[in-house]
Amino acid sequence: MVRVKFLGACREVTGSMHLVETENVKILLDCGMRQGKNVPRVYEFPFDPEEIDYVILSHAHIDHSGLLPLLYLKGFRGKIISTTATRDVTELLLLDSAKIMKEEQEKYNIPPLFDEYDVRETMLFFETYEYHRPIKLEDGVKVEFLDAGHIVGSAVTLLRINETILCYTGDIGHGNSPLMNPPETPKAVDVLIMESTYGNREHESREEGIRKLAEICNEVLKDGKLLIPVFAVGRAQEIIFELKRLMQAGKIPRVKVYLDTPLGCNVTEIYRNYAYMLRREFYELFLKGKDPLSFEQLEYVKSAGRSIEIARSDEKCIILSASGM
Ligand SMILES: [Zn+2]
Repeated sequence: MVRVKFLGACREVTGSMHLVETENVKILLDCGMRQGKNVPRVYEFPFDPEEIDYVILSHAHIDHSGLLPLLYLKGFRGKIISTTATRDVTELLLLDSAKIMKEEQEKYNIPPLFDEYDVRETMLFFETYEYHRPIKLEDGVKVEFLDAGHIVGSAVTLLRINETILCYTGDIGHGNSPLMNPPETPKAVDVLIMESTYGNREHESREEGIRKLAEICNEVLKDGKLLIPVFAVGRAQEIIFELKRLMQAGKIPRVKVYLDTPLGCNVTEIYRNYAYMLRREFYELFLKGKDPLSFEQLEYVKSAGRSIEIARSDEKCIILSASGM
């Protein structure tokens, strides 16, 4: 018999974690951190981490991966199964998370859940696979990843335990991103665990969003700087791509664009490395030597000094800035 326990992200958006267990194996689907203003720092797993055989990680976002180092510290010594791109982005995000917690300890005396060394140790437990490659974990237990189209490396997990097929979507893309493929749909499943963050909302069309972006750029850049808040993973790369297109089409002024987030800069490098996993049209631009995440006006800002210099200048420009995710 297969039992599933929902341990997070139920009636809330963050903290994704679900435990799948049989008589022989215990598998954790994601190991996410709850995020928000009033979430206490301390966390106790409602199971024994030593007994977990596998963690299957759907994607790198902290609300899906953020407690992995704590799981390791509490005794987990199994395998963490993910795509290769997910492993690479997860390492960056966990290191960033450790850095933020260290700063919070220095400023507010809040003890961190883990440090950079714990992240390095945790990374040793990763075992990575590509999409569409069925993986045998144990006798009668197989996993296959499909493309979830959410961020680079994001996967829909098909977990077959004996005759039962369980599908865990993780976060799924909306299908009209110029970078991400539309999410893949599995053929037939017995159990479906599905995210529904925007399930009750109609998004405006991409064209309308781009039109508004151009309108705001033109308005603000008449005599000022435009600050666009972006998530370091996914949103930053999409905005860079769209700003380049708008400038090339002459729809917005050719001002300097600063990606003012070291994390965003490093994640963008991973998008380049794994462009083959993204939309074909996007990847083909790389193959033709036309890096879609780079253009003359774009500068990747990697030092705090440069960041302050840009903020203090009178230059009309666009600044993309991130905080987490
Ligand atoms: Zn996500």
